[in-house]
Amino acid sequence: MVKVNQNYLKLPGSYLFSEVARRISAYSAAHPEAKIIKLSIGDVTRPLAPAVIQAMHAAVEEMGTFEGFHGYGPEQGYPFLREAIAQFDYAARGVDILPEEIFVSDGAKSDCGNIGDIFGADNVVAVCDPVYPVYVDTNAMAGRAGDFQESLGRWSRLVYMPCVESNGFSPEIPKEQPDLIYLCFPNNPTGAMATREQLEAWVDYANATGAVILYDSAYEAFITQEDIPHTIFEIEGARTCAIEFRSFSKTAGFTGNRCAYTVVPRELERDGARLNSLWNRRQTTKFNGVPYVVQRGAAAIYTPEGRAQIMESIAYYQNNAQVIRAGLSAVGLECFGGVNAPYIWLKTPKGMGSWDFFDLLLDRANVAATPGAGFGPSGEGYLRLTAFGGAEATREAVERIKAVL
Ligand code: PLP
Repeated sequence: MVKVNQNYLKLPGSYLFSEVARRISAYSAAHPEAKIIKLSIGDVTRPLAPAVIQAMHAAVEEMGTFEGFHGYGPEQGYPFLREAIAQFDYAARGVDILPEEIFVSDGAKSDCGNIGDIFGADNVVAVCDPVYPVYVDTNAMAGRAGDFQESLGRWSRLVYMPCVESNGFSPEIPKEQPDLIYLCFPNNPTGAMATREQLEAWVDYANATGAVILYDSAYEAFITQEDIPHTIFEIEGARTCAIEFRSFSKTAGFTGNRCAYTVVPRELERDGARLNSLWNRRQTTKFNGVPYVVQRGAAAIYTPEGRAQIMESIAYYQNNAQVIRAGLSAVGLECFGGVNAPYIWLKTPKGMGSWDFFDLLLDRANVAATPGAGFGPSGEGYLRLTAFGGAEATREAVERIKAVL
């Protein structure tokens, strides 16, 4: 008789965004006249940049010829893309990353989950609280999280690092000694950013204890403030303790195109093994590469015109973030984030619960947000709003929320 992975049976309820979608659908079905504005799931809405489209068209044409046809590509990504990433995302910031340290993939979501394959099941994992649910659920699936404690909304073996108002939504080094530390800056869901000093402290800690930092920088393109590190590898010592995840999803509107990359430095060794080699082994065994056409499209963002075009879209979303922050702050709501990130972390009024405030806004303002409690116990009392909507819809949503309050 087949046995299933028992860890899957421990996973609570449905995935957060499925539950949000379910509630929106149920509301729409009951109120077909309602025009719901979704500031919930963090998906982009602006079309791909013309330079990307042009590059993809050209690549499609190539694929229709004997000379230009591409079958299976290198699992790690084509050299043209790995070299462009090394040059423009790293060397341009004074950071040395070799193309062979860059692994192109179909998403930071997949990589953040799959990276667990190269680590033992008994490692102690630390996550921020609130947190992007993928880190928690994938560790639970791998048996690293223990049991889900329903009454606490926590997993028994995970180390939770509260990110709350008093610490500026930036985690403090926990007293338990974790082996794997997930950090995400700019942060989803709080929109917070760590300072250089805070990242230095994490790198020193990881090097001193032998931990590995799994640094998710999917929203790097949204950093606006000066002297904020754009990559963990700007921090001295990070090459011996960190893995970085980046994505074209939010940087270039690739959520439907699927392209991302993970950087595993060659110096990073643990337990007598080079993690770059282990990840290479994992990827070459279980992954067959990102489509050639998509990689050509991704490479186009590193051309001067491609760069200018994606920066225009990013500025558009950043402006939405300002509209949300300014509009809701003006009526006395406490808003965090939205400066170096496309997310606004909104404190619920009068200590209201996250899901209650979610239901209230859906019902009274026809605006869908994401309840903070869905991101972890410390997210209770907050809602996440995204800046990825259209400018007009965003303004309208803010006006509707103001009217309700
Ligand atoms: N990492 C974080 C923190 C995210 O919020 C998201 C998407 O919402 C991802 C990764 C997923 O990125 P990708 O589209 O590359 O899978």
